[in-house]
Amino acid sequence: MLKFGCHLSIKEGYLGAAKRAYSYKALSYQYFPKNPRSLSVKSYDHEDAEACRNFCLEHAIESIAHTPYPTSLTAERDKKEAVIQSLKNDLEIAEACGSLGVVVHFGSLLHSGGQIDSYKLMIETLNAVLEGWMGSSRLLIENNAGVIGSIGTTLEELTQIRKLCERPEKIGFCLDTCHAFASALWTGDNWADLAEKGEKLGYFQELKAVHLNNCKYPMGEGKDRHANILHSSGHIKEHQFEELIHSPVLQHALFVLETPKDMGVTHQEEIKELKKRFGQS
Ligand SMILES: [Zn+2]
Repeated sequence: MLKFGCHLSIKEGYLGAAKRAYSYKALSYQYFPKNPRSLSVKSYDHEDAEACRNFCLEHAIESIAHTPYPTSLTAERDKKEAVIQSLKNDLEIAEACGSLGVVVHFGSLLHSGGQIDSYKLMIETLNAVLEGWMGSSRLLIENNAGVIGSIGTTLEELTQIRKLCERPEKIGFCLDTCHAFASALWTGDNWADLAEKGEKLGYFQELKAVHLNNCKYPMGEGKDRHANILHSSGHIKEHQFEELIHSPVLQHALFVLETPKDMGVTHQEEIKELKKRFGQS
């Protein structure tokens, strides 16, 4: 069974989000473990998290958490420490809710330094977050959309950063299809090559989730604007999604929508359509 789902709000708590996923007949979902606009550490409701974990186990629903927007793996000075504490907190909440991991974007290029300095800082931050981490939830690094001067758009960078960390076993990946298309990692027509390369690099073996998004702008423009999968003005075509979704290297992954909910189709309807169109493999 393909694990289609979507991003959901926790306004009704962690259990509330899980119940909503169930009501959508989703087998996966994503949530913000806390306020998405801040890096503050949250003292969360342990009972609610445990109830969420049990509910998901009972209904075979799997989840991932997503870090707040200000989280940057290449933050410097004071902000770096705040990011580390926030990420540790995200991991704890994800673990309590029974989630596979916490999605965090690859860092961005430092203004002051080059690529190597940016990678070094990212590795330092990842090491600091994972030091002493005993849980099974992992940090899931997401590929970047690839605006000019960006880093984190290639499978080589993603797998190399993981290898260079002290605890690679606590790091996995999340592939965003819109970002991959925007950065020309996935052109829409090179999936077979990408799958083969990703397997050789050990990328797909560590991949836990796909952010299933269409792209509002043409391939390679570096623009991170999501569109609905089907019947939308998105530039990724249906047969291209089909090839990706049915790819053997992704059969274990969660497919989580981060698509607009206000463009004529709700997430619930979109999940239903995905199942109908792409089937249960
Ligand atoms: Zn994403």
